[in-house]
Amino acid sequence: MSRQFTKEEMDETAIHEAAHAVLFWHFDMGIEYTEIYVSKREDGRRGATSPKKKGPGSFCHDELKETVPCMEGIMVHLAGIAAHRVLRSKVPQTKSGSDWEKATTDAQALCYRPDDDEATLCRDWLLKRTENLIRGWDKLPKAIEALAKALLAKKPVDGVQRIEGSEATRIIEGVCYYSQDD
Ligand SMILES: [Zn+2]
Repeated sequence: MSRQFTKEEMDETAIHEAAHAVLFWHFDMGIEYTEIYVSKREDGRRGATSPKKKGPGSFCHDELKETVPCMEGIMVHLAGIAAHRVLRSKVPQTKSGSDWEKATTDAQALCYRPDDDEATLCRDWLLKRTENLIRGWDKLPKAIEALAKALLAKKPVDGVQRIEGSEATRIIEGVCYYSQDD
């Protein structure tokens, strides 16, 4: 059993996973669940968030290469990294980790070859675009913070603090649709 995460590490993971969930919601992909772990998994994961609909990355690899859904999928991959930059002014594990790899692979699948310049520009543009999406509507950072707070407040069951999609959606919509501007 690996060591338990510190409070700061848990906060970082909660923001990261909540950002994935809020972008799934924003792009109408639905949320299956979002969860964070109290200690590192064998595969290195600290949390997980899943959409209800078809995996967003699959659009980049289909024969049709549906550009907009593929781009939205890449933005969902990059949501955790973007949220840290916007909400915590931090650049966590930006150039490593499975999100970055998935974003890179999907951008390569979308773009023309033979070189990777276009894919690199595409991925980096979509990271900036994700940051601006989160920054551009003040409800989105609030929704990410609210969902992260709810994740952190969950009692761990077998080391997992989990929120099902319906509850996550309620929390996000509570902030985005029903809260007063202050
Ligand atoms: Zn992630």
